[in-house]
Amino acid sequence: MADKRSVHSWHSASTEAVCAQLQTGDQGLTPQQARQRLAEHGDNEIPQAARRSALGRFLLQFHNVLIYVLMGCALITAALAHWIDTVVILAVVIANAVIGFFQEGKAEQALDAIRHMLAPQATVIRGGQRQRIDGAHLVPGDLVLLEAGDKVPADLRLLSAHNLRIQEAVLTGESVAVEKSADAVAADAALGDRASMAFSGTLVTNGQARGVVVATGVNTEIGKISGMIAQVETLTTPLVQQMGVFSKWLTLLILSVAAALLGFGYYVADYGFTEMFMVVVGLSVAAIPEGLPAVLTITLAIGVQAMARRNAIVRRLPAIETLGSVSVICTDKTGTLTRNEMMVTTVVTRHSHYRVSGNGYQPEGQVHGDNASADQDDDLHTLGIAALLCNEAELRHQQGQWQVQGDPMEGALLALAGKLGGAERSDYPRLDVIPFDAESRYMASLNTAADADSSAAPMLYVKGAPEQLFTMAALDAEALDYWHRQAEDIAARGQRVLAFAVKPLPDATSPLQPGQFNGSLRLLGLVGLIDPPRQEAIDAIAECRSAGIRVKMITGDHTKTAAAIGAQIGLSNSDKVLTGADIDDLSDSELQQAAIDCDIFARTSPQHKLRLVTALQARGMTVAMTGDGVNDAPALKRADAGIAMGLSGSEAAKEAADLVLADDNFASIVHAVREGRTVYDNLKKVISWTLPTNAGEALTIIAALLAGMTLPVTAVQILWINLVTAATLGIALAFEPSEKHTMARPPRARYEPLLDGALVWHIVLVSVLFLIGVFGIYDYAVQRGYSLELARTMALNTLVVMEIFHLFFIRNIYSSSLNWRALKGTKVVWGVVILVTLAQFAVTYLPPLQRWFATEAVPFTDGLLIVAVGMALFAIIELEKQARLALTKRGGLKRTAD
Ligand code: ATP
Repeated sequence: MADKRSVHSWHSASTEAVCAQLQTGDQGLTPQQARQRLAEHGDNEIPQAARRSALGRFLLQFHNVLIYVLMGCALITAALAHWIDTVVILAVVIANAVIGFFQEGKAEQALDAIRHMLAPQATVIRGGQRQRIDGAHLVPGDLVLLEAGDKVPADLRLLSAHNLRIQEAVLTGESVAVEKSADAVAADAALGDRASMAFSGTLVTNGQARGVVVATGVNTEIGKISGMIAQVETLTTPLVQQMGVFSKWLTLLILSVAAALLGFGYYVADYGFTEMFMVVVGLSVAAIPEGLPAVLTITLAIGVQAMARRNAIVRRLPAIETLGSVSVICTDKTGTLTRNEMMVTTVVTRHSHYRVSGNGYQPEGQVHGDNASADQDDDLHTLGIAALLCNEAELRHQQGQWQVQGDPMEGALLALAGKLGGAERSDYPRLDVIPFDAESRYMASLNTAADADSSAAPMLYVKGAPEQLFTMAALDAEALDYWHRQAEDIAARGQRVLAFAVKPLPDATSPLQPGQFNGSLRLLGLVGLIDPPRQEAIDAIAECRSAGIRVKMITGDHTKTAAAIGAQIGLSNSDKVLTGADIDDLSDSELQQAAIDCDIFARTSPQHKLRLVTALQARGMTVAMTGDGVNDAPALKRADAGIAMGLSGSEAAKEAADLVLADDNFASIVHAVREGRTVYDNLKKVISWTLPTNAGEALTIIAALLAGMTLPVTAVQILWINLVTAATLGIALAFEPSEKHTMARPPRARYEPLLDGALVWHIVLVSVLFLIGVFGIYDYAVQRGYSLELARTMALNTLVVMEIFHLFFIRNIYSSSLNWRALKGTKVVWGVVILVTLAQFAVTYLPPLQRWFATEAVPFTDGLLIVAVGMALFAIIELEKQARLALTKRGGLKRTAD
């Protein structure tokens, strides 16, 4: 078998020799052979880059500027014998590392789950049956079928190839696709010249082929260099990166301020150095948002998982952010808006209209002619044979149901062929084929006549879009008019229309040349297929409308079909349809306007998608675009969020996309947008909660120092607050569910900065309120003649209570926090609030902790007062928010009225 001796010569051996050596043939391997070989050769996988050990990952958590600063502080406090401070700082550092460690674990889990969902599939022939299997289960000797858009799943020796071109950039760096064929090449041919081979990981850009697996996993050419390409992705987005950079600068700023304060306190205000130093340490720890990066990453990981649960698999992580700002979704029709469960219901020939009844893909049912009997119409009979032969799909009866292997439309045509009288494919061996492609919109198959009629010439069967076949057929003006009217009639009912034609080719020359039979085909008739809209797509389109997101349908289908389906699913402007030809006639600037005005685009080719994306982007829109075919890749790459179909999409489209839909469903895109908005909101909430909290704590110390007064909270108490709150309260926001009106807001502007005026204002407002609250309580306690310890304990508790109330406020930044849903919170929120409250009770009332942190038990009524201060903070910021929301709403209404 695939032993070392032969591995290097597959490309120069004859196909027969290769098959003989791998003990395989036309029928492929038997399932049993496949199992044995899998056990022998292992999975067809390239091992992942080695993971870091758990300990390594844990230690890496300490490799961070923010943490270095904290550890420096711990060292110095230890040198000064302030042991409690040292212990608390170290506890902050360790708590942070533990959270970071778990966060990374969660992020890796999220990415692993995605990787698993994106595992490539391969089409093979085993035991004579065509089937889709997990690419990892391929073994040497398997027969693999390739078509345009596929990623080659293992190293293959080609057995036959039609017009096959493969892009081998991953291996050779050459981005131009190379032509391939089954002919053996010289034994010393370089990798790039081995035209008889298809290498694992490369992309089929054109044509079709059949090949036999000669190497899998690490034995493939790509496997041999896999060390160079396998890499572990990290969970980050531009926003989170920006925040990382921001945190570093903030640390620098805080350290400078701290150094300046140290100098000021020691030299100008005459504080003792040690005392001053401890304060400055407290200040630094309070102000540095050490937990922020970890919480942001958790937020993303939760977003990735939430999207995956809704069948949207994120391939490129920045897409999570982009999705939240999508303002227009350009979507395919078939399978995305419709169910892709096709059934032929109409056939029209020259002689009659036929209604076809039946159930799903079951190849049994009635064909009723209006003015002819199905048995007497020769064209209908030939059309049935064409439907069978000019077809790549297979129907299988499994678990009491008829199922399609391949394109559902072709499955429906096989069912029609069955209803028209069961001819057998094997009676008409195929000589050649021109595969369907979205550009030319037809497919042709050349087959020998049935055995019984060996004198008959080989026949070319063609099926495709009616307009396309009309130009290829011999039709006079009257016939053309008749067929046009028929096609429009069928399409206007929302059905997909397909035309069929034939031509005998007595001296058939292989390979078939596209264009060689133009104007000479005999048109047999038209077929109309229904494909009902998905109910959930109709609902999702309504949701998009309320979310200010435009939906545009871009389909290769007939104008009338597109318009009818558009109306059924509730697209606006469904009577206005622009065709690919119309788009060709428009200049770029004209197209920009047309792309905005029109919502349905029919008879488009993939390059029109690219122009449409560019036009919409030129108008400042954030575009999500779906695609499935190999030619959709440029548009998917160009779109702000490229979305590929997981079920029906080609590997090429998936590689180019940011997001893959596991269920091909339009509703999943809208779920992903909702999730994208939620993730962005949560990132914003985490930041909006953390920064004012830190600033409030830091300001309290700075203000006291500058005013030359006693500190209302000691350095070690500030450290305690950081330990119990930063590691708990902030994280709750990463788990926030979507706010109620998430999809009732217009999309956020594409380049909206996160630290915008509103957020800066919020930071200032809340920090000042923190300051007033803490000093207010402290002053109250001092006025009442309480001890310094008690006054400080009350100030400490006030800070924490205000943080909790601030957390409740932040949960609803776009709507009121004064309703049952908002107050009810979530389990996570109440979990952390209870935890923090218990910790506060402990530090206030437990004697050992009282000794450590110099606290005193707070009287009950004063405890109530502290809670009242928190409520006051909540009331003020809530009122401010309500006023701001009302104002923007009025502004918005006014703008709309204008
Ligand atoms: P949608 O956007 O609705 O998903 P599409 O853009 O993928 O559709 P295509 O699959 O490119 O549409 O099909 C365009 C037209 O080409 C169809 O309306 C049909 O007439 C024709 N067609 C589609 N599939 C085949 C096929 N397998 N063989 C022949 N003709 C086909």
